[in-house]
Amino acid sequence: MINNLPTRENFNSLAQECLIQTINNLFEITKDYTELKDDVYSDLDEVELWEHHRGDLRTCLVLIYQALELYLKGEICNESPYLLLDTPRQDWPTNPESLDKDFNELFTISGDQLLRTFNAIYSVTEKKKEINKLFNDVRKKRNIITHSSPTFKITPQYLIESSIKCFTFFEGNDQWWHQIKQNIVDHPLFGYGDYDYELANLTYRLEFIKDKVGLKFLNRHSDLDLTARKYYCPYCSHYLSDLGQDNLEITKWAILNPNKPTGTTLLCYSCQNKFEVTREKCTSEGCKGNVISDEGVCLSCLEKIEID
Ligand SMILES: [Zn+2]
Ligand SMILES: [Zn+2]
Repeated sequence: MINNLPTRENFNSLAQECLIQTINNLFEITKDYTELKDDVYSDLDEVELWEHHRGDLRTCLVLIYQALELYLKGEICNESPYLLLDTPRQDWPTNPESLDKDFNELFTISGDQLLRTFNAIYSVTEKKKEINKLFNDVRKKRNIITHSSPTFKITPQYLIESSIKCFTFFEGNDQWWHQIKQNIVDHPLFGYGDYDYELANLTYRLEFIKDKVGLKFLNRHSDLDLTARKYYCPYCSHYLSDLGQDNLEITKWAILNPNKPTGTTLLCYSCQNKFEVTREKCTSEGCKGNVISDEGVCLSCLEKIEID
């Protein structure tokens, strides 16, 4: 008998780790750059930065390929883990007298065979076509970089887009952000200094991702309308208020949920907190805002409204 059969969840959680690591690596690379660019080196060239980190970009590509293989294994496993075995039947420990064997000791299929098996199990859908396209593209690039020097440029944009696509295809819309956020919050040191400040800080990561792939791309991977009008998040803008009002634009990730002219619930995509708001006109000159926090602050301009 074959023991310790894997499950889809086993493979999926390993795949998530690869993708989260990819996005976190890329974010960490630019973190220092963004600070220095603002403070000292305004002429610092981002192209130069990524050129220096080409090794990291290659590693990230390998991680994404790894994630794709793991996700395909998960999907196949959902049908039957035995479909993953590449060990000839005569070598299976299935004679009545043979000792049990652990699944991990047996050879399993990889690469093209995974895709073929996956395609044999699931009927053709748009999603399946997209998965095939992404897998083939990432595999081709990964083969080139692991066997010779690449003739193409791996960009952070390509890596983040591919990671987000993986999350959406195998986990569902919005999972790219939910999983990244959860992974950071679950860190043993998270909140040691100041939980609220650190949670509000996540908006930097979200801004970084948006800057690289654009809001339209993110919107295609969300159940919400991320292109809707955005308001300051009462929570994120409060805990990052030391940035000064001019720099708080990054906390404008709150949208009306549902997005209706009379809607009174605001959801911040970054911190995922929900807030009740009132709909009254802002009294600040030149502001057309009408979404007011429970503390009487206009979430379009951050001014406190005047009460007659
Ligand atoms: Zn927030
Ligand atoms: Zn206002």
